[in-house]
Amino acid sequence: MRFRKDAPPRWLRRWCPDERVRSVTEITPEHLRSLDIRALLLDLDNTITPWRSRQVPPEVAAWVKRMQEAGIKLCFVSNTRNLGRLQAISAQLGVPYARGVMKPRRAMLRRALELLGVEPQHAAIAGDQLFTDVWGGNRLGIYTIWVHPMHPREFIGTKVSRQVEKWLLKRLEPYRADEEQA
Ligand SMILES: [Mg+2]
Repeated sequence: MRFRKDAPPRWLRRWCPDERVRSVTEITPEHLRSLDIRALLLDLDNTITPWRSRQVPPEVAAWVKRMQEAGIKLCFVSNTRNLGRLQAISAQLGVPYARGVMKPRRAMLRRALELLGVEPQHAAIAGDQLFTDVWGGNRLGIYTIWVHPMHPREFIGTKVSRQVEKWLLKRLEPYRADEEQA
């Protein structure tokens, strides 16, 4: 589902994604190209793997490969404390990473764009959290894709922010740009 990002009132706009998808695998290189997007920053936990897991689902690994083969530059952006896990997944998929302080701070996202050599207007971010991934991306002025969390298991603090996300999603409903695909 897409949103008219400029339409919500100012207070709500910062949390409004450009799009919402069930899974990253719904994002296609053709779609990104049509938006002149060449690079995609990827959240790790509950976007690419279940929370704290090293297991990348096979369909996600295949999707990463498709994106790479299509020439879309990828980079993980994560504030995980487990560097070994981030490095292992990065090596397994051949995707570089930028690690840093909590999103929505912009420094880590900027570093990722520098690493890929891409300007913000040609970049997107995909992640499962409105208050980190989407807000951070919006602050940087990049295209934001809100991904449905892969698995219900997550950090206790996240469970709290999910309630607020639910409330915000209701506020965002009137600003949907199209009907949800069946
Ligand atoms: Mg996440």
